[in-house]
Amino acid sequence: MNWKTLVVIIATGLLLRSRKKRFMLSKNFGLDEFVKSSTAKQMGIDNTPGPMQIANLSALVQNVLQPLRDAMGFPVIVTSGYRSPALNQAIGGATNSQHMNGEAADIVGQDKAKMFNYIKDNLPFDQLIWEAGNSFQPDWIHVSYRAVGNRKQILQYTPGQGYKDI
Ligand SMILES: [Zn+2]
Repeated sequence: MNWKTLVVIIATGLLLRSRKKRFMLSKNFGLDEFVKSSTAKQMGIDNTPGPMQIANLSALVQNVLQPLRDAMGFPVIVTSGYRSPALNQAIGGATNSQHMNGEAADIVGQDKAKMFNYIKDNLPFDQLIWEAGNSFQPDWIHVSYRAVGNRKQILQYTPGQGYKDI
């Protein structure tokens, strides 16, 4: 465990004690954006990440999402971040979904194709998926990051047809 992980774990403890203050993972990304879920709220599912999931979210933000945000100059909006196993099951996520580890996020923004291409050409990632949409713009982007062993896998998801390498 490195010092950054330790800092995140300590910060999480402080966060749980005081929920009034927003816990920022970086300049532009707060932990709350990765945890909120309307499905979890509606269904009464606990979607609280543990220290390791928060450490993974932090690494995803530091290595991918904040550098992307800085390069784009427009907000990068997280539509799905951490998913507890119960939430992942409720929404029909993949059984091995990296969202459950805090290693993945679904994101949108002003120009999703530009975001996708910037990540592809400039940033470290494990899996990058062009989700639905058309050849000009995906509906959203799924991106994951691992501390070790990033596969640099680039996929396109087409509803009804599944995933293919691109
Ligand atoms: Zn996803």
